[in-house]
Amino acid sequence: MSIPLALPDISELEISLVNEVLRSDRLSMGPMTDRFEQTLAAYVGSKYACALSSGTSALHLALLAHKIGPGDEVIVPSFTFIASANVILMVGAKVVFVEIDPQTWNVDPAAIEAAITPRTKAIMPVHVFGQPCRMDRIMAIAKKHNLVVIEDSCESLGAKFQGKQSGTFGSFGSFAFYPNKQITTGEGGILVSDDETLIGLARSYRNQGRGAASTWLEHVRLGYNYRMCEMQAAMGVGQVQRLDEIIGKRTKVANMYLERLKGYDRLITQKIDSDVTMSWFVFVVRLTDNFTQVHRDQLLAKLRAEEIGCNPYFTPVHQQRFYMEDYGWKKGMLPITERIGERSLAVPFHTKMTESMVDQVCSRLKAIVSAF
Ligand SMILES: *Cc1c(COP(=O)(O)O)cnc(C)c1O
Repeated sequence: MSIPLALPDISELEISLVNEVLRSDRLSMGPMTDRFEQTLAAYVGSKYACALSSGTSALHLALLAHKIGPGDEVIVPSFTFIASANVILMVGAKVVFVEIDPQTWNVDPAAIEAAITPRTKAIMPVHVFGQPCRMDRIMAIAKKHNLVVIEDSCESLGAKFQGKQSGTFGSFGSFAFYPNKQITTGEGGILVSDDETLIGLARSYRNQGRGAASTWLEHVRLGYNYRMCEMQAAMGVGQVQRLDEIIGKRTKVANMYLERLKGYDRLITQKIDSDVTMSWFVFVVRLTDNFTQVHRDQLLAKLRAEEIGCNPYFTPVHQQRFYMEDYGWKKGMLPITERIGERSLAVPFHTKMTESMVDQVCSRLKAIVSAF
């Protein structure tokens, strides 16, 4: 039986909401986008939201709204999806990668503090695989050094740190809706914030630099077309309504994995802090240190040959070729990140996974790894 790595969870509700838009003649910048922004902001407990074309555009606009650019440094982990770092390059600022905690795989607050220079403007914590970072410590460091915090919460919609939603600690939180995320709009993203001025700037950048009171061909700053369309927003409205149900199903699947892998000492799973509530994005296992990247790649090849979806997760950003060639990053600069990146892989994880699918994946994982 072939098992895909990820699958969206779309119901008749989303289909009927999209149909409603298609029959309405209003396909962009309409009531569904407002409704999506309001529903999502209410869900996480933020005052404002700005729906966008992707998670990447959300992070890009968060940096622009804070006027971060050439000469500025932004601190970010390398153990993340490449977009977290790319947006820093897009605004012309310097990417300062820091190490992660070897157990939770989230950015290490002590490493953040050690990397601060007079040019540091912002910290971008990434809530890896749906587990919030240590936001108490990160916010304290930011306050002490007068730094902006932009949360890359693109993998953690619905997760909580000490009872508070991820994405609501920094001046901006960002969420993404590619089909492998907890909820999807096909493509899409959103910024949340409690700051009216910042969200107003994001709205202007999203819409070709138009001001709140501009006429159609009046542009007050350099902007982009980062808008979300009404069909996407309609999907989003339905998906947010079903978010708790979807997170519940994903939690069940994660627990099935954890139960079956418990005690199997050649594979390690992400340590989950006791004061966080996970919103599982992917399920990642990592080989212990006595194995190498060669073993991990063999494991990927063997699983794929059996049509079990899997992917390296993450390939550290500083090891991507252009970060090494153009920005001077080298292997060996972030040993913890590299050690984990070389040995980890995501296995099938979605709401349609049954007990027997999880059984199959886990028994194949164990059989292959035990034979190494
Ligand atoms: C998904 C994701 C993003 C944004 O991705 P898009 O494909 O642009 O929507 C950003 N950061 C992280 C960590 C992500 O996982």
